[in-house]
Amino acid sequence: MTLAAKVAVEGATFSFDRWYDYAIPERLCRAVCPGSMVLVPFGRGKARPRMGVVLAVGEAEQGKELKQIYDAAPENAVLTEELLGLVHYLRDHTFCTYYDAVRAIIPYGAQYRAVAAEEGPRLERQMTLRTVNCYRLTGNTAKLTAKQQKVVSLLDGGRELSGPVLCEGAGVGFGVLRTLVKNGVLEEQKKEKKFEIYTRPTDPEQQQIPPLSPEQQRCFDALLPLLEEKRPQAALLHGVTGSGKTLVFLELIRAAAAKGRTSLVLVPEIGLTPQMIYRLKAVFGSRVAVQHSALSNGERLQQWRQIQSGQADIVVGTRSAIFAPLDRLGLIIVDEEQEHTYVSENSPRYSAIEVAKQRISYHKGLLLLASATPSIEDYYAARQGRYKLLRLTKRFNELPLPRVEMVDLRGELAAGNTGAISQRLAEEIRKNLDAGQQTILLLNRRGYHTAAVCRECGEAVRCSLCSVPMVYHKQENRLQCHYCGGILSPPPQRCPVCGGELRYGGTGTQRVEEELQSRFPRARVLRMDMDTTQQKHSHEKLLSAFAAGQYDILIGTQMVAKGLDFPRVSLVGVLGIDQLLFAQSYRAFERVFSLVTQVVGRGGRAGLPGRALIQTADPGNRVLSLAAAQDYEAFFEEEIAFRKLHLYPPFCSLCLLQFAGAQEGQTASAARAFGGQIRQQAAGRKDLPLRILGPAPASVAMLHGKYRYKLTIKCRNDPPFRALLRSVQQQYSESPYAGKVAVSIDFYSDSD
Ligand code: ADP
Ligand code: ZN
Repeated sequence: MTLAAKVAVEGATFSFDRWYDYAIPERLCRAVCPGSMVLVPFGRGKARPRMGVVLAVGEAEQGKELKQIYDAAPENAVLTEELLGLVHYLRDHTFCTYYDAVRAIIPYGAQYRAVAAEEGPRLERQMTLRTVNCYRLTGNTAKLTAKQQKVVSLLDGGRELSGPVLCEGAGVGFGVLRTLVKNGVLEEQKKEKKFEIYTRPTDPEQQQIPPLSPEQQRCFDALLPLLEEKRPQAALLHGVTGSGKTLVFLELIRAAAAKGRTSLVLVPEIGLTPQMIYRLKAVFGSRVAVQHSALSNGERLQQWRQIQSGQADIVVGTRSAIFAPLDRLGLIIVDEEQEHTYVSENSPRYSAIEVAKQRISYHKGLLLLASATPSIEDYYAARQGRYKLLRLTKRFNELPLPRVEMVDLRGELAAGNTGAISQRLAEEIRKNLDAGQQTILLLNRRGYHTAAVCRECGEAVRCSLCSVPMVYHKQENRLQCHYCGGILSPPPQRCPVCGGELRYGGTGTQRVEEELQSRFPRARVLRMDMDTTQQKHSHEKLLSAFAAGQYDILIGTQMVAKGLDFPRVSLVGVLGIDQLLFAQSYRAFERVFSLVTQVVGRGGRAGLPGRALIQTADPGNRVLSLAAAQDYEAFFEEEIAFRKLHLYPPFCSLCLLQFAGAQEGQTASAARAFGGQIRQQAAGRKDLPLRILGPAPASVAMLHGKYRYKLTIKCRNDPPFRALLRSVQQQYSESPYAGKVAVSIDFYSDSD
């Protein structure tokens, strides 16, 4: 019998993404095993080197001459059995290729690439971290000059410092260090340069976990046994805003660590990571590692290695951190679990929560989902007993939830107010300014004017590549497409379609900022949206300036709505919420309910009584009223009844198939053909209940110059259905549409 490595290669299209046999040369015998990264010759005729992943090692297929593997990456690049399992899971559930899955799991900096060498193609690290010389005392003494003495004193007590830091600290040149090394007083060692991230001194107040409130303690006591079970467990912590969910997390992580198990904490967006990181670091210090996409490749790699080597046993990060190479994983916490940011919008289109379930079931750990407004699906599952349901019903210290008031916008225009801020809200902002308290305003639209509309034909100026209205940005004085980044500068005065006069209207965060400045000239206003947070760490800088009281009013998009904990905020204003109610999604109401509850919850968190004002033209609206009353249960009851009646999740799965192509007719017929195949293959199969809606143009009908169509399938996301999709996908990849109209398949997101 000949042994062969079964390899999946990079850059495979759907139709040839399978296992290929390769011979393992003697010198690579030890390096090649399931999960290892290899370089192989691939292709008919003149084979080219390609990256691959070894899925198994086993008996070679009979009667074929095997090509040999060129090279294999070292042991620390081998996917563990568990992570290799995730490769199969991702391929199976998100319809990506094996290698796409590998790339999602291993961060760029830790990957390998092909290089040409004299002996043949070889693998090389994608990146190497820079090294610096580090110095420590050897213990040998000698007679020292004053300068040398200074250096030695800095290294007292077994300290180690890098050359540049040491020279600067002692005020000496490198020559002094060199002499000390030569004299045997110092020893020199090349070490990887350490990236300093999230290293601000910890807040001494946060170093101890304060005693839990009785309610928090009850939650913890109910969760602890789940952590000790020898079976996978899942729980949902439903806690009102400000109830102190984080403290329960900290105690659980500590309990897991005490049992030698590692923990992973996911937060929904980068802006919220610093807050969680500092709270974790205050308690657990350097055992905490960070994984998110705003780190540089080098920073991310270094953190990743700390996790892999076991130096860090607590990881915090955004969606992609779910793949952190933690061993002995005992606990995964998903904060604000309802957020759609846990679903990847690129291939592989995975849900971090679904991946978390896989990891937890492998490690027999505990998955804890937490939120003030759980997703309807997860709350339903908890009610059904599939998750253990725990509640925190009170704010810490029995602080009241903010009092919420609806402001009817219909009277404003008549009263001569053309601004975005109602008289009533202005009054409250004024009071807050006088009292020296802080205000947060939410408006989920960035830019200055949100559209330029023709007075003659009524058309908005649209991006030439995307079917969406362009947004006016005042600072740059131009129109911008928020989908592809395209710009129109200077902004046109006449309609590009009919030549009519354009009227710029609609309000974004920039315009509200301006309005605030002119109405309250002495107020210090901070705006936070994608435009002001482009730079690295800008979230963190802006938020800590606000926390330090350098601003009176924070105006921003949804990034100001969640998770933030500022004691001096006593007023919250919600602007422009009505439009969100009409978004094209069965989750639109859920999103609005959640957003309003979240942002209202930013107020009154530490003694100052909180109040919130919601501006709307529809003050009787059910969703807004329930959100104002902060009555999640009542909202859930209405919503679940609606979902049941109209057959939406959790009563079925929704599979969204998106088609994108350069020609509209062809894109539509590709979608039609795909849908027809599904219908045909499912016909007469009782195990495949499904309903196909569409094809219809996607809600953004053109994006980046490609036409977009969608099919929505109400189905059961189970093995027979996925097998059917695979088989249709296979057929499609051999059809004339392949290569012209791209298809993506997505079970987790609802927006297109
Ligand atoms: P949530 O995430 O549930 O909205 P947090 O965990 O941010 O709430 O807690 C809200 C505030 O209450 C924080 O400032 C936190 O420090 C404080 N807090 C919560 N529980 C306690 C406790 N047991 N002792 C002292 N402070 C607490
Ligand atoms: Zn565009």
